[in-house]
Amino acid sequence: RPKVGILALQGDVREHAEILRRLGVEPVEVRTAGELEGLAGVIVPGGESTTIGKMMVSSGLLDGIRSYFYRGGPVWGTCAGMVLAASATTGPRQPLLGVMNALVERNGFGRQVHSFEKDLEVEGFDGPFTGVFIRAPFYEDVGPGVEVLSEVDGRVVAARGENILVTAFHPELTDDTRFHEYFLKEVCGIERS
Ligand code: GLN
Repeated sequence: RPKVGILALQGDVREHAEILRRLGVEPVEVRTAGELEGLAGVIVPGGESTTIGKMMVSSGLLDGIRSYFYRGGPVWGTCAGMVLAASATTGPRQPLLGVMNALVERNGFGRQVHSFEKDLEVEGFDGPFTGVFIRAPFYEDVGPGVEVLSEVDGRVVAARGENILVTAFHPELTDDTRFHEYFLKEVCGIERS
């Protein structure tokens, strides 16, 4: 069975792991750069991007995931992970992976009170996907090489590059596994057995 890593420094790791298992993939909790070895993909989950970023610096995982990515390793950032993936932020400086050519607005939709659900049109999906947004970011601008998959009022909430996917919302908090399937098939190149 293919192994897909979930960065397990903080955030909703268990929910991603359960869906991966359902899709026939072995989830691997990643806390050190060495644990990235042999993974078919890695998920950077939601949580608090400033906290996760600092822990990535101290654990060596900021450099580790960058190397993994630049060697072609598939990465999926959800919510805080979408913030961390960006190359630049409109807000105060914080450690970023910088692997996605985009300017992120952290908490772009407002604070906790502004959590909401919205049915999204997603490029290539056969019907709407319910996005669960929790203090969600969006990409204000994206550069060359970035394909926008979904927008809310002109704000980018899902996008991809060749070996990276980002979502501002939380597919792991719904029963709809289409984004996990999309990541595994279209980004990681894993065919379901
Ligand atoms: N607003 C958070 C951040 O910027 C992300 C929230 C989330 O992951 N649910 O880190």
